[in-house]
Amino acid sequence: MKAVVYHGPGDLRIENVNDPVLNEGDALLKVLYSGLCGTDVKTYRRGHHMFTPPCILGHEVVGRIEAIEGKPARPDIAVGDLVAVAPYVPCYGCAHCRNGREELCNNKDGIEGAFAEWIKIPAEVVSKGTFHVPSIEGLKLACLSEPLACCVNAVQDSRVSLGDVVMIIGAGPMGQLMLELCKSVGASKVLVSEPNDFRRNKAAERQAVVLNPAGEGVDVSAWVKEQTGGVGADVVFVCVGSTDAVEVALGCVRKGGTVNLFGGLPGGSRITVDPHILHYDEVILTGSFGFTPLQFHTALTMLAGGAIDAGSIITHEFDLDQAVEAFDMASSGKALKILLKVDGDA
Ligand SMILES: [Zn+2]
Ligand SMILES: [Zn+2]
Repeated sequence: MKAVVYHGPGDLRIENVNDPVLNEGDALLKVLYSGLCGTDVKTYRRGHHMFTPPCILGHEVVGRIEAIEGKPARPDIAVGDLVAVAPYVPCYGCAHCRNGREELCNNKDGIEGAFAEWIKIPAEVVSKGTFHVPSIEGLKLACLSEPLACCVNAVQDSRVSLGDVVMIIGAGPMGQLMLELCKSVGASKVLVSEPNDFRRNKAAERQAVVLNPAGEGVDVSAWVKEQTGGVGADVVFVCVGSTDAVEVALGCVRKGGTVNLFGGLPGGSRITVDPHILHYDEVILTGSFGFTPLQFHTALTMLAGGAIDAGSIITHEFDLDQAVEAFDMASSGKALKILLKVDGDA
């Protein structure tokens, strides 16, 4: 089968690789769309500790079940079904799972890279992390289930409440999804700080109050205070991988509010925190990563039901053969979510 193989930073090649081999209960998915995630793009640009080349990237996937080996892992998943697949599922048995924090599971099982014509869905993922997409028209939106599920996890971790003022630092695809989700859970105002004009304008079109932090003499914290009657934002999501942005966020949050590190930072990064903010101001500094199967299902349901306006977050679509162009476009800052259309009949 054809796949996009990552051979190291800046080196992606379309190659013929072996077809997946199924074991008992596994399903074969014909990939229809695969989304480019920030992690994939980061890996392409400068490498990533989680991906050792050569390997196949891609984990935001929808498609059609083409075969099931032996006894199906779940009676309601059959050949021909259109599905969105969570890239990993928890064990439900380890200490973290037992604490209801399945996203932190020690024994996750998952799929392999989805920038390929076919992928194997292991039986565990069939039974815990495979969800029907109601129609072929809904497939592209369903491809956003994984990134939106990560946002659902963050919004729940940070307890965004009705009427909250939320601040989002960074309006890439994740920042835009976060903006939509915060609106849908009842934020009264969403403030967005983003230096890239294209992304900032997209956020403004979504009714965010926007700021260019790179503007001359701009003081982000003073601007947030001005926008919140001197109080600060209830919740600040840092949707970029930048330690400077975390420190900015700490200057924008209200007393008792929450700063959530949503963008990943390289291990060993350091931030400076004035402990007075944590003690006297009772600011909660936290982070969120990944999602549970329930959050994945919640995201898919919200997308399918039109509860959030996410379609326009998908700005580009490329064929599998054009993967290099797709990654270059994703790196250009002139795009939001990019999908690879893997099969012509979608
Ligand atoms: Zn992703
Ligand atoms: Zn577990």
